[in-house]
Amino acid sequence: MTAPLLEVRGLAKHYPLKHGRIVRAVDGVDLALAPGESVGLVGESGCGKSTVARLVLRLIPPTAGSIRFEGRELTGLSDSALRPLRRHMQIIFQNPHAALDPRRTVFASVAEPLVVQGLAGRDLQARVARLLVQVGLPEGFLWRYPHELSGGQKQRVCIARALALEPRLLVLDEPTSALDVSVQAQILEFLQELRARLGLAYLFISHNLAVVRQVCDRVAVMYLGRIVEEGPAERIFGAPRHPYTRALVASVLPPRPAGLPEAPLAGDVPNAAAIPPGCRFAPRCPMRMDRCTREDPTLSGGTGHRVACHLHEAA
Ligand code: SF4
Repeated sequence: MTAPLLEVRGLAKHYPLKHGRIVRAVDGVDLALAPGESVGLVGESGCGKSTVARLVLRLIPPTAGSIRFEGRELTGLSDSALRPLRRHMQIIFQNPHAALDPRRTVFASVAEPLVVQGLAGRDLQARVARLLVQVGLPEGFLWRYPHELSGGQKQRVCIARALALEPRLLVLDEPTSALDVSVQAQILEFLQELRARLGLAYLFISHNLAVVRQVCDRVAVMYLGRIVEEGPAERIFGAPRHPYTRALVASVLPPRPAGLPEAPLAGDVPNAAAIPPGCRFAPRCPMRMDRCTREDPTLSGGTGHRVACHLHEAA
């Protein structure tokens, strides 16, 4: 088996509140990505998926757990020790309008990480021009300002900047959700083509299952700070097992796979400062049993398809 590019074990991010309460934004996540693989992290808003993205890149420190990139443990490293590793892991944010400085040209924005590496003069300009071409923008865009670009063009500029240091992992945090629907399709197609061309791995964060189905090899479904189901995309969308995944898939992806409930997902995600005992999905689960409110299911299963639900435990 190929050694993982990224391997996360027991990852947690807790935020203490007053009176001893704790927000468990991420609460024990295990995740692995192989080189060149695209893994989708999906779930409703507030489930902790964007926090996982920031933890993986060490933009915020974890409360507990291990993050290994190419076999090297990242937790505990200082900023200066992280700097050379960070060039291999880049993030694309949701909103390209906010990600670009309106006072800087496209050239200045894309060149920034290269300047930090010491590139200058004609070599720098040639490299930035090549990056623009790589993301499907004409060289003539070098001297444009963000207000002269469409949303899709801005997101391509952000991708060019992320590619500048030749990363091996791109973390894409809802990369198309701020774009018009027609532009979303173009950017998704472009991201697929880019991955095939450069052999990049993607950690693709999205609440939109249709988008994830289009882009990802494997999918991890997050609920209230934990992964509740993980497996190949065709199994997650074709034969989901966890009641939460089944409800998500049934609500957004017609035609509905056989046997899925008609009822949409009821209620909201509970407060991460008041996680229910036992299975955290129990208050919303149509399949709930007595033991579900007492016993916390663990993620288990073979053949790369794992689920955290008492209904699917090995006998
Ligand atoms: Fe539903 Fe119980 Fe499975 Fe949790 S463990 S998802 S409550 S059936």
